[in-house]
Amino acid sequence: MAHTEEIIGGHVVGGWPVAVRITTRPGVDGASYDLIDGDTLDLLTEGESFDAYPTEQQMRVILDEHDDGEAICCRFCQNRIHRNARRAGVIETGTNPYCCDDCWDERLR
Ligand SMILES: [Zn+2]
Repeated sequence: MAHTEEIIGGHVVGGWPVAVRITTRPGVDGASYDLIDGDTLDLLTEGESFDAYPTEQQMRVILDEHDDGEAICCRFCQNRIHRNARRAGVIETGTNPYCCDDCWDERLR
């Protein structure tokens, strides 16, 4: 019998847009929760679904595992951020331009 999948939440974790998908199966108690990349719609929790709605900390762990190796960090707080993060325009040449949403200031534009 077919299972049911539904997107039940959207989040931005460290500048990385993600969606939470719930999967229920007929005759099975409980549901499993998966994390989907908001940009590529890739399943990020292949084989490691959550039994409950994941916390932001759990999402961060999954996203760290799927980092594409570009290792982009916020220039201010050094938190790892998504490759689509904002870039500061007014910075010294040669320094890291990426800035997380928490540290962003319109004057950086
Ligand atoms: Zn920051």
